[in-house]
Amino acid sequence: MNDSTTTAPHPSPPHLPSAVFEELEIVRDPANLFHQTIEQILIAAELIGMRHHQKIIIAQPKNEIMVHFPVLMDDGHHALFKGYRVQHNNALGPYKGGIRFHPHVSLDDVKSLAVLMTMKCSLVKVPFGGGKGGVKCNPRELSSEELKRVTRRFCTAISNQIGPDYDIPAPDVGTNAQIMAWFADTYQLMSPEHSRQDTHRVVTGKPVEMGGSVGRDKATGQGLVDVLQEMLPELGIDIHKCKFTLIGFGNVGGWTGRLLTELGATLVGVLDHTGAIHNDRGIDAEALTEHVAQTGGVGGYDEAESISTDDFYGLHVDLLVPAALEQMITPKEAGLINAKVVAEGANAPTTPEGDAVLMQRGVEILPAILCNAGGVTVSYFEWVQNKSSTTWSAEKVDEELNRHMVLAARRVKVARVKYECDSRTASYCAALEQIKKVYELRGVFP
Ligand code: NAD
Repeated sequence: MNDSTTTAPHPSPPHLPSAVFEELEIVRDPANLFHQTIEQILIAAELIGMRHHQKIIIAQPKNEIMVHFPVLMDDGHHALFKGYRVQHNNALGPYKGGIRFHPHVSLDDVKSLAVLMTMKCSLVKVPFGGGKGGVKCNPRELSSEELKRVTRRFCTAISNQIGPDYDIPAPDVGTNAQIMAWFADTYQLMSPEHSRQDTHRVVTGKPVEMGGSVGRDKATGQGLVDVLQEMLPELGIDIHKCKFTLIGFGNVGGWTGRLLTELGATLVGVLDHTGAIHNDRGIDAEALTEHVAQTGGVGGYDEAESISTDDFYGLHVDLLVPAALEQMITPKEAGLINAKVVAEGANAPTTPEGDAVLMQRGVEILPAILCNAGGVTVSYFEWVQNKSSTTWSAEKVDEELNRHMVLAARRVKVARVKYECDSRTASYCAALEQIKKVYELRGVFP
């Protein structure tokens, strides 16, 4: 008997995600966010009948850019920063995705967020591909002048790899409209003088005075509320009467809280990096916004009681909106959650194991690429306004956003029935259908 034939590992059947991992020599790590994301997407790719070459194209980003750059700190010393820009796929249009400033930014996380952008843009049908960037730093510990210098040096370091019709960054965790203003200014100053006026399109999420769109600030929260209005009735929940909790009260969580309470829903609990609060009679989202602006977090808000994180997850509600960081809902939190629906405002807030526990417990999960696509949709509106030198009214932005979000939600519902799967897989199926068609139409050069 030939030993090598009995001991050689059996190659995985070619349709399984593991076969693509093996072929691309990716050693699967279950805790790796990029691996988790690609695995879920490959399952959807199989369901819609994507061809093998299409699967291996989407399983890796086209470009991974890593830079190191020195920045002068206020005390006179120079610190070296690490930054990333990952360009996942541009089959549908220029790369698009935010820039994150956070101490835990890593290449694999940025890769994962870039893939999700490809999926999101396709699902809401905006003509962009997917990208993401980040700088490993703690913006809370930097002075405003240091933050400005980090932004300008990062923009300089990647300026040859981005462009208004090639790769268009935006704000994400730890970055905001002011940072986009510094970024746009730096990019413009580095462009030839005769073409400078138009180059502020290189970023979206700019202040309105510098070419930003009205409604960009609230766009992700508004888009999430638009999705909920489309999806909650079939789950037997009245949005005007529901009770909900939020993880995170920054841009996404804060706007979602204010918009839902304006519709009559009751916010009963919030968890953020400063603690958890609860008031079953309802938390005034406007007053909490003031408190967070003054103190930096929800902790210490005196119109609600302070509770433990476990008690927060156990609150009995119709809806929980995670709107903070990735991977917060593990099997432990999933086992505690006492909500009928989890609507993912944050990117990848649920681990695959957490997902499985929620599904077993009958909790409906509305996936991030649907729920938080409002941000990139209004970013697209900003880019269109800049390109055509026009300005849209707030009403037009709201109306167009609502149209994109409702149609995307309906695409997910259709895919759920067509492919007999859960909403997360269905959202990937609906997003991949368009990418598959494009690769079939254009083929692979040469
Ligand atoms: P943000 O920086 O404005 O707010 C982040 C929130 O997370 C804060 O309230 C913070 O207190 C909370 N937080 C941080 N660490 C925490 C912890 N350990 N436990 C509990 N809460 C914690 O960020 P944002 O723009 O609101 O983004 C939130 C999420 O939404 C991210 O996943 C981001 O990628 C995603 N997202 C944002 C947009 C957008 O337009 N801002 C668009 C799409 C997706």
